[in-house]
Amino acid sequence: MTRLWGVRPRWRTDVLGDFFCPGCGGDRNYRRQHGRRWLRLLGTPVLPLGPVIGSVQCTSCHGRYGVESLEQPTCVRLGGMLRDAQYTIALALLAAGGTAHRAARDAACAAVRDAGFEDCGEAQVLAALAALSGLGGELYDAHGMAGGLAVELHAVLEPLTPHLAHQGRERLLLQGASIALADGRYLPQEREALAAVGRCLDLPQTRVGALLEAATRTPYQ
Ligand SMILES: [Zn+2]
Repeated sequence: MTRLWGVRPRWRTDVLGDFFCPGCGGDRNYRRQHGRRWLRLLGTPVLPLGPVIGSVQCTSCHGRYGVESLEQPTCVRLGGMLRDAQYTIALALLAAGGTAHRAARDAACAAVRDAGFEDCGEAQVLAALAALSGLGGELYDAHGMAGGLAVELHAVLEPLTPHLAHQGRERLLLQGASIALADGRYLPQEREALAAVGRCLDLPQTRVGALLEAATRTPYQ
């Protein structure tokens, strides 16, 4: 039943897109809208009142959320970020340990395929490493990890970190550790690379140390 008097906003759509809907918990389409409150008589707007804060409406559940809900990546986007993270960590650890050992190359390629790059073989992984070195000279020099690789790790991991639970971040670190351990004990450069991964993933330094020690006793599954 329509009430005699009421105040309800009237919305105008600014932009359409897809987002992770906090209401229905999945990737959905949204309308980003701004609006103005109207005094209504029998449902008909008669007098404009103030503007309302812009909001986002899910086209599936019609729930309305603050525009900050657009900051949460969609499942598709998150999956892509995670894939890129696994790939970059594999490259960083292979670069740190060197490509001379077959076991390390195999472990890095397995991690890359595991991430979802199923057609990516050893040739592609080595070509990607060569391309990274081409950007910033040697990947490792006397001073440790060189700029190009460190920048790449930051660029890929830092946007992902706030969206991953603790276990997810630790898992990424342990995947890196398994590549480092494939050809024997940690080399100083591998430890350094793993420490850099831990920092980008916002894991406490002591936790990184404990996880790396534990990884030497328990083979990565
Ligand atoms: Zn929804």
